[in-house]
Amino acid sequence: MFNSLSDRLTATFKNLRGKGRLSEADVDATVREIRRALLDADVAVPVVRDFAARVRERALGAEVAAALNPSQQVVKIVNDELVAILGGETRRIRLAKNPPTVIMLAGLQGAGKTTLAGKLAKWLKGQGHSPMLVAADLQRPNAVTQLQVVGNRAGVPVYAPHPGVQSEFEAATGDPVGVARGGVEEARQKLNDIVIVDTAGRLGIDAELMQQAADIRAAVNPDEVLFVIDAMIGQDAVNTAKAFEEGVDFTGVVLTKLDGDARGGAALSVASVTGRPVMFASTGEGLEDFELFHPDRMASRILDMGDVMTLIEQAERNWDRDEAARMAKKFADQEDFTLEDFLTQMQQIRKMGSMKKLLGMMPGAAQFRQQLEQFDEREIDRVEAIVRSMTPHERVAPKIINGSRRARIARGSGVHVSEVNGLLERFGQAQKMMRRMAAGGGIPGMPGMGG
Ligand code: GDP
Repeated sequence: MFNSLSDRLTATFKNLRGKGRLSEADVDATVREIRRALLDADVAVPVVRDFAARVRERALGAEVAAALNPSQQVVKIVNDELVAILGGETRRIRLAKNPPTVIMLAGLQGAGKTTLAGKLAKWLKGQGHSPMLVAADLQRPNAVTQLQVVGNRAGVPVYAPHPGVQSEFEAATGDPVGVARGGVEEARQKLNDIVIVDTAGRLGIDAELMQQAADIRAAVNPDEVLFVIDAMIGQDAVNTAKAFEEGVDFTGVVLTKLDGDARGGAALSVASVTGRPVMFASTGEGLEDFELFHPDRMASRILDMGDVMTLIEQAERNWDRDEAARMAKKFADQEDFTLEDFLTQMQQIRKMGSMKKLLGMMPGAAQFRQQLEQFDEREIDRVEAIVRSMTPHERVAPKIINGSRRARIARGSGVHVSEVNGLLERFGQAQKMMRRMAAGGGIPGMPGMGG
């Protein structure tokens, strides 16, 4: 899910990279690309329009003009706005003051409600709750049996009208409102602290279905009504969500089938159109394929950024502004990057926390996990000792560091000559990278990490 959207957005940002200052034309071109990528991913038109307008306004505003790295700031803006349309903060289930907490599930048939009931029950049980499932879907002949199977797997009790309503006739004559009410009463007596009520869905929206769901809602007064929606349904998602909002109303959204390969834009539209947060994500048919939905992490995934936002925030908190400004000026003046700068940068980075943890937040970190495990935090101390053993002249003109100087530096810092060689080599690479970035206006400050 989101792969092609992700590729498109990343490609768009790549075009921006290396631009020192962004003109209005740059911003417009970028916003146009973002708009197209979102539309192609099936995000609803009004959502795309608002999104693009907000990104444009912010990208032309002061925060980008003042940024050390304008293109990076635009990525941050797009990230912020993605988080916002996904519902903002992670929202957890509101528990009732007087148990049981009642959670009602609503949505079209096949959306994944029954499966979700099992997943939610298992997850809540793992958190120390004792949930009960209630089979108030009497529309689909074997829905009750299916819920019982799911309940068994999750190891939670299931309240059903009578075990295994099988025939269409039995189903049609059942009383779902009565079942829902009975289920909540049973949970109260048996001290189950959470009740999950599964309700009927139809293939399309119809008035009778809405009325039934609204009646159940009125009867059991749920603490949460979760609207369950298949993320693969495309542009229909918005109309369905609106119909359920008007017909039953809900407090949160659950996206199912996020493991599929649909374009996923519907998922991005629902929270925004209804103003209700996405609370959970279903990512497969198994009971464990389920997660609490974190808008920020989903946005990061879409932008293929690892947890770079945390990284940038930590940088903003810990970096020495004067030092950053000095580096920026060096860049602008095309001055060379020296060993002294190299050391300062490493010290700045270290202020942000453990190198291992920082590197782990970089996109693509998964690919070099093994090297990360082997990273030795004392490496920075050794680098510092080596640089301190150099003369000021050597630090700004490392080219003069010949064999005998290397031996002297190694002796002075208590390391082997090969470590001095290694440092000089890494510094050479970092210097090259800094020169390239200086030419292109990239982010200063992350050279030559690791050994
Ligand atoms: P309901 O009619 O809303 O109760 O939907 P069900 O729970 O019966 O799910 C309909 C179908 O979708 C079933 O075959 C489920 O196994 C499948 N399903 C549910 N959730 C997911 C999911 O997150 N990923 C995938 N791949 N399949 C799912």
